[in-house]
Amino acid sequence: MPLGEFELISRYFTRPARRAVLGVGDDCAVLAPVPGTQWCVSSDMLVEGRHFLSTVSPQRLGHKALAVNLSDLAACGAEPLAFTLAMALPRADEAFLAGFAEGLWALADKHGIDLVGGDTTAGPLNICITVFGTVPAGQALLRSGARVGDELWVSGTLGDARAALECFRGTLALAGDAFEQLRLAMELPQPRVALGIALRGIASSAIDISDGLLGDLGHIMKRSAVGARVDIDAVPRSALLAALPPAVQQMCLLHGGDDYELLFTAAPAHRDAVRAAARDAGVAVSCIGRIESGQQLRVLDGAGRVLDESAAGFDHFKT
Ligand code: ADP
Ligand code: MG
Repeated sequence: MPLGEFELISRYFTRPARRAVLGVGDDCAVLAPVPGTQWCVSSDMLVEGRHFLSTVSPQRLGHKALAVNLSDLAACGAEPLAFTLAMALPRADEAFLAGFAEGLWALADKHGIDLVGGDTTAGPLNICITVFGTVPAGQALLRSGARVGDELWVSGTLGDARAALECFRGTLALAGDAFEQLRLAMELPQPRVALGIALRGIASSAIDISDGLLGDLGHIMKRSAVGARVDIDAVPRSALLAALPPAVQQMCLLHGGDDYELLFTAAPAHRDAVRAAARDAGVAVSCIGRIESGQQLRVLDGAGRVLDESAAGFDHFKT
C-alpha cells in the first residue's frame, strides 16, 4: 500500500509548533510578528544534479536543504523562526523520507525553529525551503552597506566543498579519509546563524558565500558601489586544501561555491568588536582584504602582485 500524500505529511513533516501560532494542517500557517521587529524571508531550491549529487545520503540532503536557507538568514543577521518545505518526489520512498526528515529535524531542533507548512507533489526530486526570521527593526545586515576603508572578513575556511566536488568529478584524487573530510564541508554545511546575529550593529555589510568568494564579493561591491582588494594568502583554508597544488587551491578558494561562510565588512574601528562577536559565536573569522574606492576587484598574492582573476561567480544560466 503506497503512502498517500496526507499520510506522508503527517508521518514525516508534522510536529507541534513551538513558536508559530499555527503550523502544518490548515490552509495557511499563522506567525505572530513581534512588535519592533522586521521579517527576513528567503527561499532556496535544491535540484538533483545541480545542487546535490544522487550520492548524497537522505540525512545530509535534509540537513543541507535547510542549512543553505538558514545561511541566508545568517547573512542578514536574522534570528530564524520558522520554515516551509515544498517538495517534488519521484515516489513516496519511506527510507528516503525517514532519512531526509531526520537530517532536517536535527538542524531545525538545533535552531529551535518550526516547520509550519509546505507542499508535496510527485515529480523529479526537487526541494524548496522558505525560511522566516526576524531582526530588530532596521538592523538587518545588507549587501549595500560597505564603505571605502572597511575591512573585509570571512568566517571559517573556504574551498573544501569545491575540492570535494572536484573529487566527485574525477579531476582531483585524494585518500579516503581526506575525501570524507572534504565531503563533510560539501554535504553538511554549518550556517553561521549565531555569528550573523552577533554582527548586528558591527558589520557594515554581509553576504553568505554560496557561489564563490569573488562572485559573492562582487554582489557586495555592486550594491555598495565600491571596489575591493583581497589578499589571497590571508584567505583561510583547511590543512587539506593547503596541501593541494597552488592553482587548485586558488580556484577552490576564490571561485569554490557551496562554502556557506559569511563574507562581511566592518570599519577598522570595529576590529575588536568583530573578534569578540566571533568568539561569542564560536566561529573563527579572518580579515582578508579591504574595501576600496572605484569598482575594481583586485586579488593580490603574497608579494603584492595583482592576480588575473575575473569577478565572475557561479551563474546557473551561464555555466
Ligand atoms: P492546500 O491544498 O490547502 O494547499 P495541502 O493539501 O497542499 O494544502 O497541504 C495540507 C497541509 O500540509 C498544509 O498545511 C500544508 O502547508 C502542509 N504541507 C504540505 N506539504 C508539506 C510538507 N512537505 N511539509 C510540511 N507541511 C506540508
Ligand atoms: Mg497545496
